[in-house]
Amino acid sequence: MSTVYLGTLAHLKANPFENPDALEIIEYGALWVDEKGAIIDFGKRSDILPKVPEAWIEDFDDAWLIPGLIDGHIHFPQYFATAAHGGQLLDWLVQSILPAETAFADPVYGKDAAKRFVKQLLSCGTTTAMVFGSQFHHANEALFEAAKESGLRLIAGATLMDSPGEGIPDSLLQTPKQTLADAETLIKLCRDEPLLHYAITPRYALSCSEEMMRLCAGLLHDHPETYLQTHINENRNEIEAVLGHFNQCKDYLEAYEHYGLVTDRTVLAHNIHPTDGELTRIAQAGCAVCHCPSSNLYLGSGLFPLSRHVKQGIGIVLGTDIGAGTSFSIWRNLSDAYKIQQLQGQSLDAAHLLYLATLGGAKALRLDHETGNFAMGKSADFFVLDPQEYDYLAERLRHCQNLDRQLFCLLHLASERQIEATFVRGRRVYGHG
Ligand SMILES: [Zn+2]
Repeated sequence: MSTVYLGTLAHLKANPFENPDALEIIEYGALWVDEKGAIIDFGKRSDILPKVPEAWIEDFDDAWLIPGLIDGHIHFPQYFATAAHGGQLLDWLVQSILPAETAFADPVYGKDAAKRFVKQLLSCGTTTAMVFGSQFHHANEALFEAAKESGLRLIAGATLMDSPGEGIPDSLLQTPKQTLADAETLIKLCRDEPLLHYAITPRYALSCSEEMMRLCAGLLHDHPETYLQTHINENRNEIEAVLGHFNQCKDYLEAYEHYGLVTDRTVLAHNIHPTDGELTRIAQAGCAVCHCPSSNLYLGSGLFPLSRHVKQGIGIVLGTDIGAGTSFSIWRNLSDAYKIQQLQGQSLDAAHLLYLATLGGAKALRLDHETGNFAMGKSADFFVLDPQEYDYLAERLRHCQNLDRQLFCLLHLASERQIEATFVRGRRVYGHG
């Protein structure tokens, strides 16, 4: 039997950077979903309910129904490493992060962390996550298993490192041979699971040998359904180190282009300090970029040049970048995204922000045929945000002149604490009921 969910619906019909009428908010709305979890229709409840022959009704009253959030960049083995004090990117990595990642060598620890990690994301309204996995295969198997059990849409793969370096524990280094065998196993697993996708994940240009980079290119070529994710242009010292090593390359991007890793299945995290030439080539390749607002502020990495990316038509997804980010919630990252653009003279509105976290992210990850908004036929991936759970927020909304302004307030003032439920493919994956 189908189900009708009642509440205030808010989603993007189109790209608000191109279309000023892209945002749609429907008060007293209804979302009608079939028994397989696909959206049949949506609109005013007075229009939808008469069309429905027989259905379960889930009435969320004044709460907001919003498409599931998309986290385009998060590190699974940094689950317990958030809020580590001190240093910018490279020092922070060696001092706090790499030691934390070694703990995943223990299978029991990895399995327990996988369950917590997935649950944490769903509790934040995240329904799709692109994840840098562990260096340990059993931990990644546990991650895929936890996602499958809980219903999270997952894109993930082992974080690859095989180049020894100062401060890198030996236990985190893999061999290309083992990498290939582990990747093939998980790629095979994803074939039968529509919500699971594999991402080839060289950590960054300096962490991988030439042999490992070529192996990544080979995997991407042999398995065109996979993704490739890595880091780029996050921090000035990092860029200098990469250019010092790849001294034949004119810029950071070329270090990846050299191995054929910049494609329309590639997602590059950060890109805070790109050259114009890099942006042009990223756009030409159809490659996506992931912006991680809270992480960029936390590590003092810099201010993401959003308008330069938008101008080139580059697909942008947002990421929490746990453990450098300080929140598992993409929603909370939206407030930081707004402030980062304010510092550069651009004031994003509610439509732009919600787009980046939902439909824009889905497009960047090539999943917009499945998720991102309430278009008919897509999966019912959404979460329920109830402002009444927070007295001040409920009062503040009563002082807004219209629903657009209410949404803008929600983007800055609401958090995962007001999330009542999360659904993927019409299945309740978080919350009671
Ligand atoms: Zn990262």
